[in-house]
Amino acid sequence: MGNKTILVTGGAGFIGSHTTVVLLEQGFDVVIFDNLFNSKASVIDRIERITARRPSFVQGDIRDRDALARVFESFPIDAVVHFAGLKAVGESVEKPLLYYENNIGGSLNLYEAMGAAGVKRLIFSSSATVYGESNPTPYFEDFPLSCTNPYGWTKLMNERILRDLCAADPAWSAALLRYFNPGGAHRSGLIGEDPAGIPNNLLPYAAKVAAGRLEKIHIYGDDYDTADGTGVRDYIHITDLARGHVLALDYIEGRPGAAAINLGTGKGTSVRQIIAAFEKACGKKLPAVVDPRRAGDLPQTYANADLAKKLLGFETNFGIEDICADIWRWQQFALTLDS
Ligand code: NAD
Ligand code: UDP
Repeated sequence: MGNKTILVTGGAGFIGSHTTVVLLEQGFDVVIFDNLFNSKASVIDRIERITARRPSFVQGDIRDRDALARVFESFPIDAVVHFAGLKAVGESVEKPLLYYENNIGGSLNLYEAMGAAGVKRLIFSSSATVYGESNPTPYFEDFPLSCTNPYGWTKLMNERILRDLCAADPAWSAALLRYFNPGGAHRSGLIGEDPAGIPNNLLPYAAKVAAGRLEKIHIYGDDYDTADGTGVRDYIHITDLARGHVLALDYIEGRPGAAAINLGTGKGTSVRQIIAAFEKACGKKLPAVVDPRRAGDLPQTYANADLAKKLLGFETNFGIEDICADIWRWQQFALTLDS
């Protein structure tokens, strides 16, 4: 590998910045294309501090066809890792057109610009949300797919579009990576997830409670049919997830078609287990209260991770304790960053 130029859309964001680090470390050149809607330009400096290499950065929007065309004219792109998108489930219910415009319209522009430039290798950020509400766990890639909100549909529709594109033109190859619950931060503590406002997700919420920025953790239900009654998810360390993308880039080389692959650990962890791991990481007790179940939450979701191992040789290196320790290190650094 190496010596290739990868366009990373949304590369200033959480998953994109960590993937950029792994790509640079493995010798790829990286062009980040991001409108900075949900990220900061300073992440580019911090990526450079970690890797001693600087990615190229273009501030632009995937809804802007001309801007995309200019990127393909300006850089010798070999393949694309596509993270750019909006991801707030609740907001997608309130503003469906914004989500379809950004995540579908923007993605169509990207695929068109790629085709026009003869770049036909793509890694797409999909999600375990495409497994819907009716499948048993663990989730296998060939399960029937469905969604319960516009955000989820934008993932499933992108999968469909890419399958159709790959079927129509055998020069195309794509990996549809279905992420479970990404968490953690780079071991350096220099980059991580930095959601604006009050986080919806458990890990960043717990981090803010540990930092004294929020009062207590709200456990959404302890009467599920799980070992301790709280919800179970498959938390995957962001550095493992990032590495999965680089393995997928290698995999799709010379393999026409679209392959859907889970990126998870194959193991479930409960809310109470997360709180215990976070308390260990930050060395203090975290106040928590039990609230009613959150609407739409499933009792448990986790991956069958066999296909990623078989096709990509992918296995996770980090567990929940690493995830919490790394978030805590990052949280303390994030407090020192300008907002
Ligand atoms: P993020 O918000 O941190 O990163 C997304 C980046 O895309 C941001 O930097 C944002 O500024 C940029 N962006 C958004 N719209 C854009 C546009 N129109 N043009 C250019 N840039 C744009 O989110 P993330 O957690 O890193 O997620 C990356 C991708 O992975 C998203 O597509 C998301 O839906 C998907 N995903 C995330 C998770 C998760 O839990 N984090 C789970 C499954 C799938
Ligand atoms: N959860 C919780 N309190 C929170 C946020 C989430 O108890 O403040 C629970 C939620 O019910 C689920 C698990 O933690 O069982 C993971 O939720 P998250 O929102 O992080 O991920 P997702 O629901 O998207 O899998």
